[in-house]
Amino acid sequence: MNRSEERICPGCGSSRTTFVQRGLAGLTDESDQYYRCLDCERVTYEILSRTEREVRAGRLEPGRTVRERGSAYVVRRVLKVGLNEYLVYLAPDLDDQSLTFAKR
Ligand SMILES: [Zn+2]
Repeated sequence: MNRSEERICPGCGSSRTTFVQRGLAGLTDESDQYYRCLDCERVTYEILSRTEREVRAGRLEPGRTVRERGSAYVVRRVLKVGLNEYLVYLAPDLDDQSLTFAKR
């Protein structure tokens, strides 16, 4: 667990966040990685687990803007990790209207 890296909520700027790591070692059942802000309850995704079909259908490729549960992200990287699994690395889209903090 990488607890030393502080995660700042892009929605409100709070550092009071809880981090949920992908279940790489079977520690959790989570296939996605994200953190949740304790102040505004925004969930920010860092890594999504997707099938090849989902990657194609969603045209998930670096540089593209995607929406995940209401928030916009820029795809940073798409990594194939299994026969039919891709990891999609995301960064919050700073142009997203919901990011009041980042726009200040
Ligand atoms: Zn927040």
